[in-house]
Amino acid sequence: MRAKEIVPSKLVIFDIDDTLMHTSAKVNVIDPEGKLVKELDSAEFAQFDNDPVIKQTMQDNGWQYDFGRFRSAQEFYDHSVPIWPIVHILKQDLNAGNKVVMVTARADLDDKNTFIKTFKKAGIPMNKIHVYRAGNVNVKASTSDKKAIIISGLMKSGNYKEVIMYDDNLDNLHSFKALHQQFPHTKFIAHQVDPHTGSTNMHEAKKNYHFAGDRVGQKTGPAGQLKGKSRRAARAGDLVGGC
Ligand SMILES: [Mg+2]
Repeated sequence: MRAKEIVPSKLVIFDIDDTLMHTSAKVNVIDPEGKLVKELDSAEFAQFDNDPVIKQTMQDNGWQYDFGRFRSAQEFYDHSVPIWPIVHILKQDLNAGNKVVMVTARADLDDKNTFIKTFKKAGIPMNKIHVYRAGNVNVKASTSDKKAIIISGLMKSGNYKEVIMYDDNLDNLHSFKALHQQFPHTKFIAHQVDPHTGSTNMHEAKKNYHFAGDRVGQKTGPAGQLKGKSRRAARAGDLVGGC
């Protein structure tokens, strides 16, 4: 036990795929006969998993996800390339004494040590960081909602004045910011990461933030569905992605 326990007032959450690491992980969509329908990278999978229309199509056709390659720690170790600007931010947060966690869409990988070694290779001290796996959350919900469930639990177990999330996926960030209603006295900052450059675009959750129908910046989210404040924000570019 350390002589002086500092209670962190900031919780900082990092996504893994396309936020901390470029990865080659693929999720396969297979039909009832086991034939490959489509191969998805992590960004495509996030889009699929958060889209209710695609979900319905999958259900209607009996298609399922095959996470075999997504669970391979060796594939993760061999093919992950750190996104250095974000890795650097993570290290700075650790040095500042903030509570740092990773929250991934993945379920458990098949070899924890090899998985952890991948981060150690990038100089990330994994003895200080817990990796929460939304793929292990056993409820029928999208990845973004599962991530929000994990984060809500973390918020309840700490006393944070500020919570910050880095993620490349806009749906995940929207679900995160919607938690502000549950924790109105905490400042919520969302950073959308551009996986190609490692640059970020910051959004702060405003009071009365609404998630429903608010999918600014996504091709699937028609701006016509947005109401009042959200529509004005969209016009002003307040929530739209970019560097
Ligand atoms: Mg990601």
